[in-house]
Amino acid sequence: AAAGPELRVVMVPSPGHGHLIPFVELAKRLLHRHSFSVTIMVPDNGTGMKPQRDLLQSLPATISPHFLPPVSLSDVPADANVITRVTLTMIRSLPAIRTSLKTLLTPSAAGGGRVVAVVVDFLSAHALHVAAELGVPPYVFYTCGAFHLTLGLKAPELEETCPGELRDLPEPLELPGCIPLSGRDLPEPFLDKKNDAYKWMVEVHKEIATNAVGIMVNGFVDLESGIFKALAEERGRTGSGPLIYPIGPVPRLESDDPTEMGTVSIECLKWLDKQPEDSVLFISFGSGGKLSKVQQDEIAFGLEMSGKRFIWVVKPPGDYMIEKSIESSNNPSSYLPDGFLERTKGVGLVIPGWAPQVRILGHGSTGGFMSHCGWNSSLESIVNGVPIIAWPNHAEQRMNAAFLAGDAKIALRMDTSEKNGIVGREDIAGFVKAVLDGEEGKLLRSNVKELKAAAANAIGSDGSSTKSLDEVAKLWMKQS
Ligand code: UDP
Repeated sequence: AAAGPELRVVMVPSPGHGHLIPFVELAKRLLHRHSFSVTIMVPDNGTGMKPQRDLLQSLPATISPHFLPPVSLSDVPADANVITRVTLTMIRSLPAIRTSLKTLLTPSAAGGGRVVAVVVDFLSAHALHVAAELGVPPYVFYTCGAFHLTLGLKAPELEETCPGELRDLPEPLELPGCIPLSGRDLPEPFLDKKNDAYKWMVEVHKEIATNAVGIMVNGFVDLESGIFKALAEERGRTGSGPLIYPIGPVPRLESDDPTEMGTVSIECLKWLDKQPEDSVLFISFGSGGKLSKVQQDEIAFGLEMSGKRFIWVVKPPGDYMIEKSIESSNNPSSYLPDGFLERTKGVGLVIPGWAPQVRILGHGSTGGFMSHCGWNSSLESIVNGVPIIAWPNHAEQRMNAAFLAGDAKIALRMDTSEKNGIVGREDIAGFVKAVLDGEEGKLLRSNVKELKAAAANAIGSDGSSTKSLDEVAKLWMKQS
């Protein structure tokens, strides 16, 4: 059933490129399958919005961006955790969100029509009550997996049962339907209760539990079956709280992001065309991840030692900085080991800054992905059937890595805890060879191919995720 262009969904992603990407994909699905118009309210935390603008510019007119005014975080300490910065940006954007939503609700509004739902990010959960207050059904699009959602929803209860630091728990956490979660694999904000980031994480999940009507999760039943089952059982037992809808994977199937269509990208895809099937390792640590110089050098030497083909997205080494790294330096020879580029010419490609990840992962020559295990990257690897070398770094990436290696069994996990957190070249070369050639790699590849098929089924015309999204869409249409 189609909604017709007069029915509008308003989306409120949190700031940054990483969360905007899946929101844009969801917007496209809502438009193409259900003919909803979509307004995406884009928060601005003053870190430079170029990648977001470029991405939004390429969309059909029925998906319209609405840029919220920048908010000031000048009173927030420079070393505040990114979760703190993001939630504060969202809380300070609430007055503008309220005003814009009111305008959209006015029948005569330009681009108006009927707003049937507000869909927020988990980090923009404070906007749920604004939607409810204005009489619009509040929903969440959860951009992490169901494992993370379970931990978030359990967080208030854990407050009572585990008053100390969660990282010091003598036994791994047993969350319903999930593999045991050891202290070291907790998402960053859960590692230190004294840090404000923890408080915000608990608070946004409380907002979700109390104010959301439904939570659409960027995952699919076959990927996290035990967890979805446990979430549904919990909902059944209590008879209250938001309904959970697995509607993913919602990664980009192919990229229409204009920032990715430059000469470098085209060259890189042409190079891939000439390589044997499953022979190339793709290495990327996400939109923000930066490595230390020592670590980056070890990767370079490890790649050389492995003798394997590779495409490596590099950034100037330095501290982890969200956003700014996208505008990174264009001269990798200034920060990679001397002679590395010359010695690996023909065997490897080094791409500074940003690569067309989805196209690379979708190319038949790509046989492995060394990844920081951001949830989008993880799903993109699954959708394309590429086994992973898990090298988690920040946020909830360790939890994702534990899941991908220990539950989904599609990843080999690097141990980054030894040797002062630096992984040496021999280990790196070993992992690269194991995934591209080894027996273990074969098993991972076969598992990930199965998941690839399951993902395609889930989002196929009759698949579980499609049906889930249809169910949500029907509710929205009905209440109009
Ligand atoms: N990405 C890309 N090219 C790059 C780096 C990242 O296209 O060089 C995309 C990637 O395909 C994914 C997103 O950026 O869709 C990164 O999201 P993820 O959740 O994996 O990690 P984050 O960047 O949020 O840490």
